[in-house]
Amino acid sequence: MISVEEALEKVLSYVDVLEPEDEPLLNSLGRVLAEDVYSDIDIPPLDNSAMDGYAVQAESTEGASSTSPRILRIIGEVAAGYIATEEVTPGTAIRIMTGAPIPKGADAVVQFEDTDEEKRKAAKKPLTEIGILRQAVKGLNIRGAGEDISKGSMALKAGTVLRPQEIGVLASLGKDAVPVIRRPVVAVLATGDELVDIKEPLPPGKIYNSNTYSLAAQVSRYGGIPKILGIARDNIKALEDKIKQARAADLLITSAGVSVGEYDVVKDVLARLGEVTFWTVRMKPGKPLAFGVLRLGKRRIPHLGLPGNPVSSMIAFEQFARPAILKMLGRKDLTKPTVKARSEGRIDNKDRRRVFARVRVIKRDGQYFACLAGPQGSGILTSMTQANGLMIVPEDKPGIEVGEEVQVQMLDWNEEM
Ligand code: AMP
Ligand code: MG
Repeated sequence: MISVEEALEKVLSYVDVLEPEDEPLLNSLGRVLAEDVYSDIDIPPLDNSAMDGYAVQAESTEGASSTSPRILRIIGEVAAGYIATEEVTPGTAIRIMTGAPIPKGADAVVQFEDTDEEKRKAAKKPLTEIGILRQAVKGLNIRGAGEDISKGSMALKAGTVLRPQEIGVLASLGKDAVPVIRRPVVAVLATGDELVDIKEPLPPGKIYNSNTYSLAAQVSRYGGIPKILGIARDNIKALEDKIKQARAADLLITSAGVSVGEYDVVKDVLARLGEVTFWTVRMKPGKPLAFGVLRLGKRRIPHLGLPGNPVSSMIAFEQFARPAILKMLGRKDLTKPTVKARSEGRIDNKDRRRVFARVRVIKRDGQYFACLAGPQGSGILTSMTQANGLMIVPEDKPGIEVGEEVQVQMLDWNEEM
């Protein structure tokens, strides 16, 4: 039996960052940028106005105040998206809108609020001239060309996880496709004679296959592409046939059939088609866990054989499959967010494994508290629906007492909780 850390290290040593692919910009949210992105253009492309107002020469406003306005002749108007044809000279102004390029000759923009435009409009005077009520300095309200991103500079670094703001930056550079790391295809295979597909009626003695669905959803949640292989029956031939369909995948995840029972043939098949790297991990739930590499045709495919109990398979997925998927996606931070909390329940750890107890973390007076999310049997999947975290009992501790400080791995990371 190996520790959770050793097991994770082994799993990660068998997966690598995948190749880049070009993805339409809108599909690249959450993906990892595969190359540095340089800008072919200045952003903004031209000096432009940060305000609605009047483009002027600062010198023409010298000494201006509300009691002693400087009167300038209006020679034109320019909106965002257009280039002014007139040139600003001493004593003249061009009415300008936010984002419009600064007209030739102008070196400042006086915002409407610092002019008498309102008064002139109220008096229904034609706008042929404008009173400037405040002295402007050179550069006032002008956004310089390239002040955000200058032509030829690096806008985003390879390895960046694309959030909405990075998508916006890429759009501002005119990129409609971006080089990102490919998403791993994760084959999901359920095993068990007792399993029935959710589209079928449920005969006596059988149960619905739920693991395929929770696991496929976990694959999607962490950025992988689930490939559902269905259900394999508990015999070597059936399992081998199904496993061979994982040939095109980057990772195979099976559930069940890894314990010590007579019908637990997953390890045997893994040994026949490849090699078993480890089996059983010092954790609870999730101890019977097999990992190895399958040789399918020319490919070598890592295979994570998760336990069958619905809670065990989900928790083992979080510990091993999630980091493997993130690594393949090019992500650097593979650890789950963890908070320090005070336990509101007792947990025993008689056989000294690392226990992941399902808890509901709440925040009270600025502190986190972890309450056990109902019965902790590894078949009780509804306890996962009550939980937002996994309280960790270290393997060297006999248990956790009420009031003790604990680490909780957050299943959902939400500061509001
Ligand atoms: P096993 O690891 O094969 O001994 O299975 C452990 C427990 O998990 C048994 O009670 C199985 O019926 C249950 N189980 C196995 N596979 C699934 C599945 N795909 N969906 C729901 N329960 C399952
Ligand atoms: Mg079974």
